[in-house]
Amino acid sequence: MKITRVEILTMNLEEATNWHPVIVRLHTDEGLTGVGEVGIAIGSGTAHSAGAGMAKNLAEQFVLGVDPFKTEMLWEEMFRSSFWGLGGGPVVYSGMSGIDTAMWDIKGKALGVPVYQLLGGKTNDNLRTYASQIQFGWSEARETLTTPEQYADAARIAVAQGFDCVKIDPVILDREGNRGKTNLRRLLPPALLSEFRDRIAAVRDAVGPEVDVILELHSLLSVANAIKLAEIWEEFNCLFYEEPVHYNNPALHTMVAKNVKIPTAAGERIYTRWGYRPYFEQQAISVIQPDLGLVGGISEGKKICDYANTYDITVQVHTCSSPVSMAAALQLEATIPNFMIHEHHTNAIKPYSIIICNENYQPVNGRFAVPDLPGLGVTLNEDIVAKADRIVVE
Ligand code: MG
Repeated sequence: MKITRVEILTMNLEEATNWHPVIVRLHTDEGLTGVGEVGIAIGSGTAHSAGAGMAKNLAEQFVLGVDPFKTEMLWEEMFRSSFWGLGGGPVVYSGMSGIDTAMWDIKGKALGVPVYQLLGGKTNDNLRTYASQIQFGWSEARETLTTPEQYADAARIAVAQGFDCVKIDPVILDREGNRGKTNLRRLLPPALLSEFRDRIAAVRDAVGPEVDVILELHSLLSVANAIKLAEIWEEFNCLFYEEPVHYNNPALHTMVAKNVKIPTAAGERIYTRWGYRPYFEQQAISVIQPDLGLVGGISEGKKICDYANTYDITVQVHTCSSPVSMAAALQLEATIPNFMIHEHHTNAIKPYSIIICNENYQPVNGRFAVPDLPGLGVTLNEDIVAKADRIVVE
């Protein structure tokens, strides 16, 4: 079997005009297709064009004519021979990720098995799942929540649906709902510290002691503020402390980990085994969150999870983009023994995201059943594909 055609689809979604998921769809001479996400359209969505362009250039140079079963061979080739693979960064690795994951989808379909069977079989049956980013609401509408009462209400909705874990970023939105207007790297005044405390206090109060609460910081804090706020939030018994600081200096995460009592988590902006290495060796994080659309695809994601296991580090695959990346996350999480919890982003319950694929996988009572269809278990909705910007390499 050979890859004969590569489509790179940049989605244009009517109700989410600033969000453009990029999907690679590989075609073979045997008529099989596979999909994988170039996971760079997340965050503020600044880089989707670069990811699509990278996937195009990789497809032109490395992918046509390759046997889709040869994931190791092609990964190594893209890594070693693209020049930029040996330099790093989200653009090159997101392009590689989309191609690699699409090859796994084809392998599963060719053999008639879900991808998890090819990764070691099912270790985890029903994946514990949390409701993620409830500061943006937990409903079909796009919301911007600011008051402690609003956060408590969103958490109550998720818990009523059966979730026993919720995640909230208590600092990203100011009182007026603005993002990025408050400098969270300066030492913070008491009024702001109280405001951030009250948001988490309200959530804890709403959900009771049996539900886990994850603190998300989106790398917005300085080390000093991360340590100070962790001390303030410590009384609320939170599950983990996500992305307290930025990634450009791994020593920052190490310093936070050594000085806070809440286990720390990070990884959505770390790429490949080489990127994770200093965090592992310095024991800087307790839970890793590799994004399979960024980290190097399913091939590299599996290796990183196994590598993490040697340091007693558990895994929550990062997923906040289209249902394609969600499907890839479920397949990997089903197999790994150090699986921690699955992330269900508020995006994943929005109609504009669900519509990208024909299938609609949702957790039930806060638990996710992994799809048993061959491959990743998702197919693209052709009505959405028809509206996408399409690059074809053949
Ligand atoms: Mg995050």
